[in-house]
Amino acid sequence: MTSPPADDAPLPTFADLGLAEPVLRAVADSGYERPTPIQAQAIPLVLRGRDVMGLAQTGTGKTAAFSLPVVHRLLGGPRRTRALVLTPTRELCVQVEASVRTYGVHADVDVAPVYGGVPYEPQEEALRGGVDVVVATPGRLLDHLEKGNVVFDELEILVLDEADRMLDMGFAPQINRVVERIPPYRQTLLFSATMPPEVEALARKYLRKPVVVQVGRRNTATRTVTHAVYPVPRDRKSSLLAALLRKPEMDTVLVFVRTKPAADRVVRHLEAEGITAVAMHGDKSQVQRTQALEDFRSGAVRVLVATDIAQRGLDISGITHVINYDVPEQAEDYVHRIGRTGRAAATGDAYTFMAPDEIATVRLIERVIGQEIPRISVPGFDFGTFVAD
Ligand code: AMP
Repeated sequence: MTSPPADDAPLPTFADLGLAEPVLRAVADSGYERPTPIQAQAIPLVLRGRDVMGLAQTGTGKTAAFSLPVVHRLLGGPRRTRALVLTPTRELCVQVEASVRTYGVHADVDVAPVYGGVPYEPQEEALRGGVDVVVATPGRLLDHLEKGNVVFDELEILVLDEADRMLDMGFAPQINRVVERIPPYRQTLLFSATMPPEVEALARKYLRKPVVVQVGRRNTATRTVTHAVYPVPRDRKSSLLAALLRKPEMDTVLVFVRTKPAADRVVRHLEAEGITAVAMHGDKSQVQRTQALEDFRSGAVRVLVATDIAQRGLDISGITHVINYDVPEQAEDYVHRIGRTGRAAATGDAYTFMAPDEIATVRLIERVIGQEIPRISVPGFDFGTFVAD
């Protein structure tokens, strides 16, 4: 494996990267001025047909880093399924599909999203009608493959997006069965926020002489984010949340909780305090999830309360704050969660509420990210004053 130059080299323009005119026009429509570091590194490699392993988290512009050159490579070809993007969650699936659609708007590129929790028929119709790009979660896609609704005999490009997350979610068997149906002479791109041994093994299995492209240090938190920990007794967390949300700068806030009942409870508490909030978790129907995202995006509700399952793939620009109502159990989840804020062009704050029994987990996170997170004590909420009596 070889590595391209470090990501602090001066950034080129999109035209410098070799993208064709219809793609450049879509980039201009999107208002992007310069490629992000991951785009500057990955796009020329993908255009040259290389396999690429991209170590980048959400917020770095990784979706465009693969979508733009994929659209370029599909230009002018016959209408058959030539590219497949596998994603871990339906939210990410929908967002990647929207990106490919946006970037392919002047290139006559047709894309179909395929994910579970919704009826099969419309997806079947779209697949059977013939599309250039399929963006899919692995389980539902496998169902369609087995029913013969789509064939990948002529697939040229496979993208594994958020590979670490897909493996965390137990998708390895489905990924393997999907890839078995794709010709070996293809281009494979793998993106992952982290590189645990399982992801390295997946890359070794499916990528040929990949070039590794990395943005930022491994396991570092997004740089523009300012983080802080609030030491707070567990039973004061909801009051602290309501108090923080009253600050005017807390505009669009994503709150993470550990369980589904906790998500519903926090929403009820906030609404009782007159703060508009909506919950997002695995028990919500697809319609409810889409509606929740829409309300959050449009500003109809200010606060989205989500469980871990919703944490990746939420690409909502303009999130001003992320609050970890519960400390994430995995240090890597901490990095992913705060990747929701500190987007490509925004800055944001990430606050973590730490109950006394969560101190050890926070210390572990600090070890993994290689920095201490400052503590903020709020009189009346700080457990220093509460555990004493
Ligand atoms: P991603 O890392 O793919 O989730 O992208 C993060 C956000 O950055 C998305 O909202 C994109 O629309 C935005 N974005 C992607 N590329 C650029 C760019 N070159 N300039 C500005 N914003 C970008």
